[in-house]
Amino acid sequence: TVGCVVRDREGNIAAGTSTGGLMAKKYGRIGDSPIIGAGTYADNASVGVSCTGHGEYFIRNVIAYQLAARYLYLKEGGQEAADYMIHDLLSGQKAFGGLIGIDAKGEFFYAFNTVGMLRGFKREGEAAQTYIFDLQER
Ligand code: ASP
Repeated sequence: TVGCVVRDREGNIAAGTSTGGLMAKKYGRIGDSPIIGAGTYADNASVGVSCTGHGEYFIRNVIAYQLAARYLYLKEGGQEAADYMIHDLLSGQKAFGGLIGIDAKGEFFYAFNTVGMLRGFKREGEAAQTYIFDLQER
């Protein structure tokens, strides 16, 4: 899966997610990536989110939208909401995955409970930063 979240100078937020799906998937299976609210979500008032992992769990838990709703209505920070979605909700269901996001203030956040998750980010006027071989923190 390759995911991307961006926020422009005017505060427009976009998210995109592309995937080949899970290995040995059932014919005709539709994963979470193209389902808005499951594996992908963007809303200028809250966050842009792109997810990877066991798609069935991301669909069942409406992960991307639920994160946005926690930001918007519970006033959680993006990172706080991301940590909850991955480390509490998904881990509690023995599901694996991760996500990247950006919030309405332009703050990046991410969480994953897999062994690793390649990712990078870039702020205007700063050099791009990438993280490849670090392992999970929790
Ligand atoms: N989430 C994708 C799916 O379930 C797979 C992936 O993230 O690699 O189709």
